[in-house]
Amino acid sequence: MEAAGSTSHNLRNMLENSDRFLTAVEIETSRGLLMAEASRRTAELAKRLSEFDKVDFVSLTDNPGGNPHIRPEVLGQDLLFRGCDVVINMSCKDYNRNGVESRLWALGSQGFSNVLALSGDYPIGGFQGQAQPVFDIDSVGLLELMSKMNDGLPNQMWGSVGREDRLEKTNFFAGCAVSPFKKLEGELMTQYFKLALKVKTGAKFAITQIGYDSRKAAELYQYVQSNDINIPLIGSVFILTAPAGRFFNNWGVPGVWVSDELRDEANKKAKSKDRGKAFFSELAAKQIAILKGIGYRGAYISGRPQLKRMQGILEMADSFGENDWKDFAKEINFAQPDEFYYYEQGDNPGLSSNEVNPSYRASKSKSARAKAQVTVPLQFRVGKFVHDRVFTEGTVGFKVGKAVYSQVEKSKKLSKIAHIAEQATKVPAYQCRDCGDCSLPDIAYLCPESQCVKSQRNGPCGGTKAGKCEILDQECIWIRAYDRLKPFGDETKMLQRPIVFRDASLRNTSAWANTFLARDHHANRNPEDTDSRA
Ligand code: SF4
Repeated sequence: MEAAGSTSHNLRNMLENSDRFLTAVEIETSRGLLMAEASRRTAELAKRLSEFDKVDFVSLTDNPGGNPHIRPEVLGQDLLFRGCDVVINMSCKDYNRNGVESRLWALGSQGFSNVLALSGDYPIGGFQGQAQPVFDIDSVGLLELMSKMNDGLPNQMWGSVGREDRLEKTNFFAGCAVSPFKKLEGELMTQYFKLALKVKTGAKFAITQIGYDSRKAAELYQYVQSNDINIPLIGSVFILTAPAGRFFNNWGVPGVWVSDELRDEANKKAKSKDRGKAFFSELAAKQIAILKGIGYRGAYISGRPQLKRMQGILEMADSFGENDWKDFAKEINFAQPDEFYYYEQGDNPGLSSNEVNPSYRASKSKSARAKAQVTVPLQFRVGKFVHDRVFTEGTVGFKVGKAVYSQVEKSKKLSKIAHIAEQATKVPAYQCRDCGDCSLPDIAYLCPESQCVKSQRNGPCGGTKAGKCEILDQECIWIRAYDRLKPFGDETKMLQRPIVFRDASLRNTSAWANTFLARDHHANRNPEDTDSRA
């Protein structure tokens, strides 16, 4: 068997040096010790699947659904020794940036290079009550950290100011997730923008969210091709069951949805002798064929498949005729009611054309934008007006603010009064939580600390359900931001900016002072300078 990490059978090599369609299988780790019955069963399944020559790599989940499980690398180590390439899922919900970095050092040392960067599901339970989510950084921040570690992080620690040496370079091959199966325009477009940002930040492959809409899968491929987003796409294929169909139909998994029609079909098939197994296997095989036909680089199969089932599905996918996938695309085409598509439907109703949606194009005309401006809330207008004149470097207002705060900071009493005055404005206007490193201008004057449960500062997570937050009963702030920016023609630029890392040392200090005196993320610091240990 070939050694891991240096073989032709490694993900980087397969994606970069071949055009082969890849097959991945996702394994969900279990809760409990590795030697416990459930973990041993999972480990055995992972081993058997990894030995199946049609499986190119195994992906191991990281506390899926926000529940505690054994770390993926514990299971992954054995697979790695066996010569199977492994993708470790890493989410940002359970660790702050130091915890993430520490875990990355451990992964690199253990021989893992493929890491799927995820923001992560919001924790829904835990020992003695619900766990406190962390979300200190997000998936984009994690990608940035891996890129910098690959370049060699500056070796800066307390008391080592001025040292120029760097830590050993890592060799991470980073992946990201993308959710094209979104209903609203702002919900979908922000996913596309965020994908572009992730690629710019170092993502080398993208895995889609689970979905059963071939047209959207084709659209994502078309969008990536047409917008020079250079990334291989791997499409998710979840082997459905009737209970899973009902669960997804109720948004039981953040960001995953199954239509009433598909749910009903699944329920009907589940009444057959094999409880619908043959139907669900065929559905998965057809999805694999569609992804291959569209031009995806692989299929990412989940749903706890046993080896025999996987063999059957893959054999079936191989047995289809060259153009059968086009008919399958017509069949597996379950959209949300009134779902937005960036591209027009193709001649094949299950696929995308390359013509941009005409009503979307019309909505971007000068007159349409001008008309839409009346719908933009006053909060945004006032915020933007003040920001452009006072908080933007180079303006007269900024120079005055800088001069004033330089003086104010000489007195503790004055600083306190100024901070109270700032909070008196920002708490009622923006529900400010006094983080001291303000992202209001980054998100169209919506506060990520008070209105986003994951404090996402670099685009939306993938968990929205028809535009709503996966946890709160309100619209996602990133969709609201898109809707606020579009009438002014600024929506496409919303994520064309440096990545935001919130500096925790600024909590409960004046965000205004921090902006004027260049202490926050707006000061355009070199990302390497953000290592606050220097
Ligand atoms: S300072 Fe922080 S908490 Fe306050 S509005 Fe800005 S982002 Fe929100």
